[in-house]
Amino acid sequence: MQNVKTSVIGSYPVKVNNLELMNGYFNQKKSSWKKYIDMAVNDQVKAGIDIISDGQTRDPFVNIFTRKLDGCRIRGRTEVIDKVRYIEPITVNDQVYVKKIIPKNKEIVGLITGPYTLMKSCVDLFYDNKKELAFDFAKALNHEAKNLEKYVDLISIDEPFYSVETPEYAKELIQMVFKNVSCNKRLHVCGDVSKIIPKLLEMPVQILSHEFKASPHLFDKFKEYDVSKNICLGSVRSDKTTIETVDEITKHINCGIDVFGEKISQISPDCGLRHQPRNIAYQKLKNLVIAGEKIYG
Ligand SMILES: [Zn+2]
Repeated sequence: MQNVKTSVIGSYPVKVNNLELMNGYFNQKKSSWKKYIDMAVNDQVKAGIDIISDGQTRDPFVNIFTRKLDGCRIRGRTEVIDKVRYIEPITVNDQVYVKKIIPKNKEIVGLITGPYTLMKSCVDLFYDNKKELAFDFAKALNHEAKNLEKYVDLISIDEPFYSVETPEYAKELIQMVFKNVSCNKRLHVCGDVSKIIPKLLEMPVQILSHEFKASPHLFDKFKEYDVSKNICLGSVRSDKTTIETVDEITKHINCGIDVFGEKISQISPDCGLRHQPRNIAYQKLKNLVIAGEKIYG
């Protein structure tokens, strides 16, 4: 039987009690954040997901990285005020914790927000050169990837901006993040990627992840190419609260199989589930798992 795994793209909706966290911080109870990671991880495990994330509960996906990079400060958005440098591990400790609390048969996906998306999301008050800033983010993220790969089974770069604009150095940026990193690699680009498929197929990753549920026309677009990469098939919407039925998801996966066949190695939601109510996010994952079992079980 083909080894297709259920996965997530990243964020999971957990309501954080800031007052409680602040009290914990001032009372030196530094472990208080673990409660939120527990919630995100336990929901994924309970739903039956194979490749688990830490839920990115601490911060939205840009600030979670820039908060710990030298040269950045957060004023609502991130401002770049000096040369961007890596000082210390960013997400690694959370992954070490996730590894401790998940069952042995589960895997972990480490999440990295891509350098181009970081660059586009920041207010640059220092570089005045987009490319240079993007490459400095990529160099910093390379340190994080090298630290992260010791603890995770897969690293996923989330680079949504590539569907809006793809710089001519798009591939080099991803190469820089993954320089001397040997674990399994995935690139997630949500949005309409139909115009950049040839560029995506050249990326230095084994797995491409896209939102096929919200953009089913991608099936026809991908059909025009010889797809050499594995596919993580977005199969439930992350922007709609309607819970897809198992039948609906099964049909969708079968459409994917018609195009990609055995190249499908993972099924997942279209994107992170941060904006969903927690009970709906959970049910979407649960139905995804049941649909996956029906087809691949
Ligand atoms: Zn996404």
